[in-house]
Amino acid sequence: MRQQATTPRVVVSRRGAQRLKDGHVWVYRSDVLSADEIGPGALVEIADERGTVLGTASYSTASQIAIRLLSREPIDDIEGLFRRRLQDAFAYRKLVVRDTDAYRLVFSEADYLPGLIIDKYNDVLSFQVLTQAMDAEPVRRILLSELSMLNPAAIIERVEPRIRQLEQLPVRTSGLLQGEKTSTVFTMNGVKFHFDALEGQKTGAFLDQRENYAAATQYARGEALDVFCYQGGFALHLAERCSSVTGVDSSRPALEMADRNGKLNGREIEWIEGNAFDLLHDYAAAGRQYDVIVLDPPAFAKTKKSLPTALRGYKELNLRALKMLRPGGFLVSCSCSYHVSQGKFLEVIRAAGQDVHKNLRLLENRGPAKDHPNLLNVPETAYLKCAIINVSR
Ligand code: SAH
Repeated sequence: MRQQATTPRVVVSRRGAQRLKDGHVWVYRSDVLSADEIGPGALVEIADERGTVLGTASYSTASQIAIRLLSREPIDDIEGLFRRRLQDAFAYRKLVVRDTDAYRLVFSEADYLPGLIIDKYNDVLSFQVLTQAMDAEPVRRILLSELSMLNPAAIIERVEPRIRQLEQLPVRTSGLLQGEKTSTVFTMNGVKFHFDALEGQKTGAFLDQRENYAAATQYARGEALDVFCYQGGFALHLAERCSSVTGVDSSRPALEMADRNGKLNGREIEWIEGNAFDLLHDYAAAGRQYDVIVLDPPAFAKTKKSLPTALRGYKELNLRALKMLRPGGFLVSCSCSYHVSQGKFLEVIRAAGQDVHKNLRLLENRGPAKDHPNLLNVPETAYLKCAIINVSR
C-alpha cells in the first residue's frame, strides 16, 4: 500500500505545533486550524502555520484527539512502516518479557502504533483497534497479515462498543478473525490461567500487573486478603506461599473464573462476592487480621473533576487495610487512575498510615509491566501505580 501522491495537509495552531515539538504525539481538535475535506482515518501531513512540516499522522473526524503522530518524517511507504513498527514491537518484547506466555505485544502510542492493541494469551492473539485509521480495511489487512506470521492458533477481535461509538466506527462484534480456537490456558510466573475470549463479562486479564504479581509473591506469607481480585491474579500468586488466601470481588462471573483458575493450579482459595468497602468495614470492625493485603480497585478518578472523591475512596480503602495488617505485614496498594499521580497516591497512603498511627516503609514503588511501557513524553500513558509497603512493628 502506497500513500497517495498528495497527502492531505492539516495545519495546526502554534500551541498544537509546540506540543509536538515538545515530544507529545497528539494534537487536539481545538488546535487544528484547517482540515478541509479530510476523511475519517486518513493519513495526513501536519504543518504549522508557517508551513513547516512536523510529521505524518492519522486523522480522526470524531475524536477530540484529532491527530495521532505516526512519524516525525514524511512517509512514502505506509505498509512498510506498519510492518516495521510491528516487528519492532515484537523484538522489544523479546528483550524485556520473561516468565510468561501472555503479554501485550503492541501497546498503541508506546509502540508508535496509536490506536492498536494486541495481547498474546499463549497461542491466541487478541486484536483491538481504537481509531478510524487502524480500523480502515487496508490497514487491518496489513496488520493481520503481519500477525499471521507469528503463527497463532487464532486471532480474536475484541470490540469495545463504546469506543467504536465515540470514534464513529461501524458496529462490529467480538469474534474470530483467524483460526478456530477461542479459549486457551496461559501461564505467567508459573501460575496458570484460563483465557476465554468470547465468554464472560470481559475478555482477558490484567497483563499490566504481571510483574507486580511476581513482586508481591516475594513478600507472601501467612494469611492474605486480595481485595478487588477479579479472576484471581494476585490471589493465585499469593497462594503459592501463604497458608490461606481470600479473594473479594463484586463480580460473580469474575469469581467463577477465579475459582476455575484456583482449581487449575490445585489451590484452595476462598472467594467472596461482595462490595469491598462494606466487607473491609465489617472485617476491620470484627478485628480480623492479615499478613498481606492487596488493594487493586477499578479507576476511581475517571475524570479530573472526580479526583477529590477518588482520593477519599483510596484513603478509605488503604486506611481499612492498614488497620487489618498485623505488625510487620505487607500492603500491596494499586491505583489505575491516570488522574491520580504517583505523588498523590503515596500521599494518600501516608495520610492513611498517619491516621492509624503506623510507620510505613515504602519497599517498592512500581508501575506497569515492561510490555506496557509508560512513555515519558506522553504522560497520559502512565496510569498504573503499585506501592508495596511494609508496616513496621
Ligand atoms: N486485581 C485484579 C484486577 C482488578 S480490576 C487482577 O489483577 O486481575 C477491578 C475489579 O474490581 C473488577 O474485577 C471489578 O469487578 C471489581 N469491583 C469494582 N467495584 C467493586 C466493589 N465495590 N467491590 C468489590 N469489587 C469491585
